[in-house]
Amino acid sequence: MQPFEFHHASTEDEAVALLGRHDAARCLAGGTTLVDLMKHHVERPRHVIDIGALALDRIAERDDGGVRVGATVRNSDFADHQLIRERYPFVSQALLAGASAQLRNMATTGGNLLQRTRCYYFRDTASPCNKREPGSGCAALDGYHRIHAVLGTSDRCVATHPSDMAVPLMALDAIVLVRGPRGERGIPLRDFYLLPGEHPERETTLAADELITAVDLPKLPFARRSVYVKVRDRASYAFALASAAVALDLDGKTIRDARIALGGVGTIPWRAPEAEAELRGKALDADTLGRAADAALAGAVPRKDNHFKIELARRTLIRALARAGALS
Ligand code: SF4
Repeated sequence: MQPFEFHHASTEDEAVALLGRHDAARCLAGGTTLVDLMKHHVERPRHVIDIGALALDRIAERDDGGVRVGATVRNSDFADHQLIRERYPFVSQALLAGASAQLRNMATTGGNLLQRTRCYYFRDTASPCNKREPGSGCAALDGYHRIHAVLGTSDRCVATHPSDMAVPLMALDAIVLVRGPRGERGIPLRDFYLLPGEHPERETTLAADELITAVDLPKLPFARRSVYVKVRDRASYAFALASAAVALDLDGKTIRDARIALGGVGTIPWRAPEAEAELRGKALDADTLGRAADAALAGAVPRKDNHFKIELARRTLIRALARAGALS
């Protein structure tokens, strides 16, 4: 591990000031991603700012009926909170599908949003990787890319976004609240993540001197009828090969509205508006769900090892929609 200077921030102001003062700084909360990557020389911050003492560990209902989740709320506390289980069950299910109980007890909301890809080559400093070393190449393109993305890829990077939690948050149109030297702002999650394009090293629109303080989950009454389905190589402690977060607003057997996002197949948590449009006003039946799944994957571009992900994601989405439709 490269030597670094360690700082404790006891207030948000202090954390923001430290971020503004130091280049190549990283915030440390649960450390479940950052510390691993530092040990492997993938992350090499010169300054590490401990934000564990900040009062950002609360979940509270907002006046507008939404819920605010602090950036340092642990994944396990987020999943188990009554407001989340009742109003946004797919968020709770996605969190509980991630990692292990030990990791969920440490990992935080902000850290989960910022976790780095599980691409093998990204974590192997002997391999070329445009995300780790811009301009060095991409070992995955002609290498082994079974777990890689089929949506949102570029000829510079095909890495999959690893988060489960971010998938239902994308479906919900969650807002990421950040604070920096220029004040506070809210970034809609759809504008938070960047496609790899020419610059896979740039993953989010968060500025280097900004701190994530919370995530707002908007009021969405029909999210009570929501489901997260995750398919992976083993039953626990594995990243998604494909996942689907869905919420359905039903009028009898007619779909009034729907929210859909996919995980495990996109370079970012993947919202599927074409699939949502395909469902609106239609009967909840096998043909409709099939057409929605086709629409969600229409833009998929597979490589030699991951063609299977398209059909897997299709079936995962159909299963999630059928389960949501069957909820009472
Ligand atoms: Fe790096 Fe992306 Fe290529 Fe993986 S897919 S080696 S993260 S550039």
